[in-house]
Amino acid sequence: MLDSLKKIFSNEIEPVSTTGKSDISREKSAGLYEKAKTYFPGGVNSPVRAFKSVYGTPLFIEKGDGSHLWDADGNEFIDFCCSWGPLILGHNHPKVREKVVEVMQNGMSFGAPTALENELAELILKHNKFIEKLRFVSSGTEAVMSAIRLARGYTKRDKILKFEGCYHGHSDSLLVKAGSGLVTFGETSSAGVPKSFADETIVVSLDDTEALKKAFEEFKDQIAAVIIEPIPANNGLLLQSKEYLRFLREICTQNGALLIFDEVISGFRVGFEGAAGYYNIKPDIITYGKIIGGGLPVGCYGASAEIMGSISPDGSVYQAGTLSGNPVAMAAGIAQLSELLRMGFYKDLNNKTEEFAESIQRFATARNYKLKVFTIGSIFWIAFTDQEKISKAEDIDPASMDKFKKLHRELLNRGIYLGPSGYEVGFISSAHTKVDLEKAKRAIFDSLDMVYNGK
Ligand SMILES: *Cc1c(COP(=O)(O)O)cnc(C)c1O
Repeated sequence: MLDSLKKIFSNEIEPVSTTGKSDISREKSAGLYEKAKTYFPGGVNSPVRAFKSVYGTPLFIEKGDGSHLWDADGNEFIDFCCSWGPLILGHNHPKVREKVVEVMQNGMSFGAPTALENELAELILKHNKFIEKLRFVSSGTEAVMSAIRLARGYTKRDKILKFEGCYHGHSDSLLVKAGSGLVTFGETSSAGVPKSFADETIVVSLDDTEALKKAFEEFKDQIAAVIIEPIPANNGLLLQSKEYLRFLREICTQNGALLIFDEVISGFRVGFEGAAGYYNIKPDIITYGKIIGGGLPVGCYGASAEIMGSISPDGSVYQAGTLSGNPVAMAAGIAQLSELLRMGFYKDLNNKTEEFAESIQRFATARNYKLKVFTIGSIFWIAFTDQEKISKAEDIDPASMDKFKKLHRELLNRGIYLGPSGYEVGFISSAHTKVDLEKAKRAIFDSLDMVYNGK
């Protein structure tokens, strides 16, 4: 074996060059962006895509295949954003594509039930001991919004409790952030959300049992549901302890409040049964999105048959959707989830991720860089910190995002694509090969050298 290869595969840290790379060409992307700005606010159809917290104009993507992405200027990247999570099999997986194309031959939407809905539901329910019935919708936001209505309808209470640093989509009740104080009514985090809505949402810090106790005392018999990302991954990766999540389960039960696990990211990601399975904690309602649709728009919420009995037409909680259970989207979900059920799928993916995160950590530690790689399942987050644990949104230093901004640019220049914000996590897919990951590591090492000692 070549000496250099030996070093790479034995994970030794090689001295890396600290010579800079010139910026990739973004001529075509920049042109498309100028046009897009005349059509869409900020030139985009979802704000984080606008590259506001990183360098340069957004890249317009032309094609994805496996772990790789190509932009309009022909630049090629190894992709660690994976469409923000849905693509656990990578881009354009043949099984998913073939199933979608096959189903599309018969038409694209009927607004009537199809066998495909049964098929996807069966795949999920047969392998998930936490829910008995579910309802398909078309996005994560819609799943969460419906779960909240279900919780309110079922408990006949109005207030909900959420955590600072958890994202649950953009419905009114949840675009709410903490005010000052241990237990507060939320303040709206978006213009256009009435204050009266925010007054129904209580916001507390993650990983704080006292704040929870106090909230349940102060709002006795008023809280319909507590909603949490059991693996908070939308504001860094704020891993919670199992003890804390258990405490949360107990305090909800004691107070007659439902516990909602928002598993739009963690569902089918840390294992087929998501975070509920990972921690073996049974929430009352679970929401899914992202991976469940294989790259097409699918969301879902599920619960016991009894709780789901409150949903119309069985019950009095109304929720509907013209394109809910869309056959083409169901097809993509069926194909993707079937792959996830293969023996050893998660073990391989999770081991690969752990090894990747560990090598970056080893490199940073050896170089004395103030950096910590947090990881769970196939999610990773590079934090510019020396804290061993970050379990609360308030523990993230906003000034550290400046380092991410530099890292992002250096990585793009070296063919590595991360989501354009330091608060976003990275994802590894089954399509990422050993060679991809070794190449990415080298690029990350070089880029970190540039970030810390760049000339
Ligand atoms: C992405 C996400 C949502 C929103 O899903 P959309 O499909 O973007 O509407 C909600 N909750 C969590 C935890 C998410 O990660």
